[in-house]
Amino acid sequence: MQTHSATDLLEIIKQQLCEQTNRPKYELLIRPLTAVSYDDNVLVVSAANEMNCKWVREQFGEIIVELTELITGSRASLEVIPARAGEDGPAIHHFSDDGHPTGKPDAPGPVEELEFRSRSQAAKPLLNPHYSFSEFVVGANNQFCYSACWQVAQRPGQSYNPMFIYGGVGLGKTHLMHAIGHEVWNNKRADNVVYVTSEKFTNDFIEHVRTGKRMSEFHRRYRQADVLLIDDIQFLSGKAETQSEFFHTFMELVEAGKQIIISSDRPPRTLKGIEERLISRFGMGLVADIADPSLETRVAILRQKASQEKVNLPDEVCYFIADRVTSNVRELEGALTRLLAFSDFSSSPPTIEFAARVLADILDTSGIRREVSMRQIINAVCEYFNISDSLLLSSNRSKRVAQARMIAMYFAREFTNLTLSQIGTELGNRDHSTVSHGASKITAEIVEDPYIEQAISQISRMLK
Ligand code: ADP
Ligand code: MG
Repeated sequence: MQTHSATDLLEIIKQQLCEQTNRPKYELLIRPLTAVSYDDNVLVVSAANEMNCKWVREQFGEIIVELTELITGSRASLEVIPARAGEDGPAIHHFSDDGHPTGKPDAPGPVEELEFRSRSQAAKPLLNPHYSFSEFVVGANNQFCYSACWQVAQRPGQSYNPMFIYGGVGLGKTHLMHAIGHEVWNNKRADNVVYVTSEKFTNDFIEHVRTGKRMSEFHRRYRQADVLLIDDIQFLSGKAETQSEFFHTFMELVEAGKQIIISSDRPPRTLKGIEERLISRFGMGLVADIADPSLETRVAILRQKASQEKVNLPDEVCYFIADRVTSNVRELEGALTRLLAFSDFSSSPPTIEFAARVLADILDTSGIRREVSMRQIINAVCEYFNISDSLLLSSNRSKRVAQARMIAMYFAREFTNLTLSQIGTELGNRDHSTVSHGASKITAEIVEDPYIEQAISQISRMLK
């Protein structure tokens, strides 16, 4: 699991906002923000004073949350708090009673003039700056897909359309899609590059239908794209109306010669709950897969990430980690991030012994197989709590059942490659935020609550 420090996160957000906001407003409101924390998907930042907090919330709250979600891949919320008096914080600007900056020397001009350039169609798409072609390590597992993406980015709409990328979790699909977006945008090969997860597309669609907002606005957002990148299409499974909407979007774009890039966790033909007319069109262009990375590629990825962090990671440590985290680049990164953080905090060099110690619970040294199935988890949890699986998957909220469910969420998070939404679906159609919350709660309680600790270690043994 990739972790993001609050500071890194805010840095990326600032970079994005810098390009999308006019200078004075950026200098006044965004640059002085400092990161306080990022826990449980809540990003806390501090601004100079109450008034700045209010402005940041009102004018940038939504986009900061959107960027956070994009960068972290999880639902997020934002809190803006005033910097404590006397703290080495952001510079204080001066305001008159009505909250507008006074004419004092360090205050920029009146805010009314600081027009926030709305994210118009021509605005830079929201993309993670690190997900570029140059930061993508090419190996035998992804070479074909990488080249195809590169070609599509050189001549959008003219080579393969649609381009369909599929592969397991954490193997770089989203990274490559963002890379196409950057490449196209930076080289001005298209004006309107739209990246969206199919979950966001669905929510947008539902929101428009629910609130009776004009559909023309929704259509403008997606049907006027020059390049549409739609991530994790499997999420549309079973959502007939959204699929129909997407079908029309797809047809309109393809007919207009616009580029569509789709990602999925499986090939088109094996997608379940997706209309045949979509599936057949998904296969019309080029279908490219990303396979699990080989040991050499995993080592190359670790080396690259370490050098990005300007850390000299001994080869033996690279191999030690790459040997144990085998099928998911996100986990590989997570292991490295954790090792480097611990090594930094404790000023210990990242040796194999040190890595074995700090990574003990995430590496394959625990004896638990990394690939446990959801079924095995449900069975083990039900057996331990002596409840039926229909009770576990039901809406029953008695303490015991709720606890068993959260423990199942915890195990699913730790030992499967399923996404939060997938885990939620498997556990009785629960929301991804419920899963995230439940799993985090257990993680926190293991250290405090001997009853939970006992349950976890017993169930771990059952899963070995
Ligand atoms: P997916 O969308 O397939 O689940 P992501 O694109 O989110 O996976 O990748 C997970 C993480 O692993 C990202 O931080 C990404 O930058 C990194 N990653 C994946 N593959 C590579 C690669 N070949 N080179 C460098 N980083 C990679
Ligand atoms: Mg992805």
